[in-house]
Amino acid sequence: MRWIWERRTDDFARMTDLPAPLRAALADAFLVGTPLVAERTPAEDGAEKFLFSLSDGARVEAVYLPKGEKVTVCVSSQAGCAVSCAFCVTGRMGAGRNLTAGEIVGQYLVLAREKGFRGANVVFMGMGEPLLNVPQVSAALDLLEQEVPPRRTTVSTAGVVPGIDALARRPRRPNLAVSLSAPDDALRTRLMPINATYPLAELFAALRRWPLEKGRRITFEYVLIAGVNDEPGQARALARLVSRVPSKVNLIPLNESPRWLPGLARPSDAVVDAFGRALAAAGVDVTVRWSKGLGAQAACGQLKGRETARPPRRPVAARP
Ligand code: SAH
Ligand code: SF4
Repeated sequence: MRWIWERRTDDFARMTDLPAPLRAALADAFLVGTPLVAERTPAEDGAEKFLFSLSDGARVEAVYLPKGEKVTVCVSSQAGCAVSCAFCVTGRMGAGRNLTAGEIVGQYLVLAREKGFRGANVVFMGMGEPLLNVPQVSAALDLLEQEVPPRRTTVSTAGVVPGIDALARRPRRPNLAVSLSAPDDALRTRLMPINATYPLAELFAALRRWPLEKGRRITFEYVLIAGVNDEPGQARALARLVSRVPSKVNLIPLNESPRWLPGLARPSDAVVDAFGRALAAAGVDVTVRWSKGLGAQAACGQLKGRETARPPRRPVAARP
């Protein structure tokens, strides 16, 4: 572990404080590999998207996000996503396999090597639903602890209740972020079909069970879509909903994709602003997350991993 994490070595032969026969035995039995970088897409704001090609050809993306001295790494947990949210390119492209803990941590290690950082924040907000891959995500969190304490990691979920409860049982827990994107069950089920399985009452019951440390809060993500979930009345309903737990809200104006998300648009800045102000007026701690420099390429909900000719499987939800 020390050679891999402190010295960034992936070659047993160079681990020279180990006896030579042990090094040879290790090299016979194990491979310390990092995922292969297939493509790098830098953005003008310093962010950079990495496309990885895994050993079976599966493709996933991770994003390097510098901000001042701080670095955040956004990793993928699955090579696709079966949850199928109406506003997410990864979801429109369909399911993909679970990544192994090594493949998850490998994304971090490659970005750290290529960009020359240590001890970044890690967010599980890339491709996939981390809480549909709890064993490997949990093992990845254990491995990351070599360099990243749990309080600097965030797992973002669409609301998989058994997964939230499983994470809650960890002795050292990451921060929890929950993607809501609608203030009521009817609209949420249309936008995020997983809501039919784990409706808001069950989701919030699980969030109230979540053992929050003192001073900590649950983050809610709300993707703002023009004419769908961006009215002041919906902001007030959202404020009532999130007040059930210590929380803050990140508003993410929709990152558009005419090809994968036809018919869905980002609200105007004025509407985003008004929604945010309505939340704040109702006592919510709210931040607007503009995905600036990355444009349509590597921002939230835009990670594809692969380009296929397949169109979206069914029309996306729009207000009738
Ligand atoms: N599956 C997990 C984590 C990956 S998605 C989850 O859903 O939480 C990471 C974030 O991107 C989620 O908050 C999701 O709501 C948001 N997102 C998805 N599609 C988006 C889009 N087109 N524009 C902006 N944000 C989007
Ligand atoms: Fe999956 Fe999250 Fe995209 Fe929904 S928003 S389809 S859960 S990656």
